[in-house]
Amino acid sequence: MANPATFFSATMPEADEKFVVACRARGVEPEFIVHPQKDPQGHPLHTGIGYWGPKDASNVVVLISATHGIEGYAGAGVQTGVLHTLSESELPESTALLMVHMINPWGCAWDHRENEENIDIWRNILYCDPPFRANPEYAVINDALNPPLWEGPVRDAAEKRLREYEASHGAGSVVGVARRGQHEFPKGVTYHGHGPSWSKHTMDRIVATYLGAAQRIVTYDLHTGYGEYGTGVAVSFEPGRTEVDTRLERCFGPELFRVGGDPILPSHPGCAYDYIRRLRPGADVISFAVEYGTTDVTANFDLMRQANWLFNYGDPNSPSGQAIRREYRAMFYPEHDDWKERVWVFGRDVLLKALNGLLPRKQS
Ligand SMILES: [Zn+2]
Repeated sequence: MANPATFFSATMPEADEKFVVACRARGVEPEFIVHPQKDPQGHPLHTGIGYWGPKDASNVVVLISATHGIEGYAGAGVQTGVLHTLSESELPESTALLMVHMINPWGCAWDHRENEENIDIWRNILYCDPPFRANPEYAVINDALNPPLWEGPVRDAAEKRLREYEASHGAGSVVGVARRGQHEFPKGVTYHGHGPSWSKHTMDRIVATYLGAAQRIVTYDLHTGYGEYGTGVAVSFEPGRTEVDTRLERCFGPELFRVGGDPILPSHPGCAYDYIRRLRPGADVISFAVEYGTTDVTANFDLMRQANWLFNYGDPNSPSGQAIRREYRAMFYPEHDDWKERVWVFGRDVLLKALNGLLPRKQS
């Protein structure tokens, strides 16, 4: 088998090319939905779609990369590897894989988690419809969290204000407030947007085109930035021990990770891609994510704020802007072969578990 590190890419054009080659090696002709903006070198951007399996499959497992932009190189590597190496016999009866390659291509190309409107796509998919959830504490610290200048007295005052807030509200309170997210401050961290983003519309279109016949839909969304270097976890976003959570635990075992216990990963009413249930009300839809550890993102929360500052107030193409982007990119995509190999091995293992544990057993 090819060295797994070769499934992964360093640029968007390279990732797109590897995706096309991998699709065609499977006899799959990928579709591309063009994004309105370009990458930093002026190349076009798009989301790729590859559907492998029977056209009228009852079961479809949807692998999604780049919900959080720059995290997409890891997910795209797993998608490419699956297309190259999974054997047809590993798919249960009447089952297809749907690859959604780079759902937030702008973010990946620009080394950013958010999209061209500073919107966190996972949050946008979950929270794009009114009524928008309020986060009054965010308004209290917005100026300090997201200062318009990253140096000098303005920044110094912002840091002092955050230290004071943390002292009176407890350790982790600033990260907690920031990560609960908000709809009010378009230039602030963890912005949910005001209505559906390009990526949400694109996902709607993919569901309408490719998931019309599916009775069971599993969404498998690939993320990076949480946990120990190279270590993967399957993640449940269920609000407690629901029936879906029980199914996920039965499939992935006691290692299943549940959000809500850490300020960096707050609780939500469910997984973003569960919204597909509203588009396909007759289908059984179950969703989970995988998180891969890189570096300690909680400790690097200031770098997330700095990247947010860069894209809202700075110049991402300036030499200092490019240096911040490189550092930020490394936080979500450590480009070492050992890391890529571990991402691939765990990503494939999770897919096989999902195929065997979340779908009906193959009939013999
Ligand atoms: Zn993510």
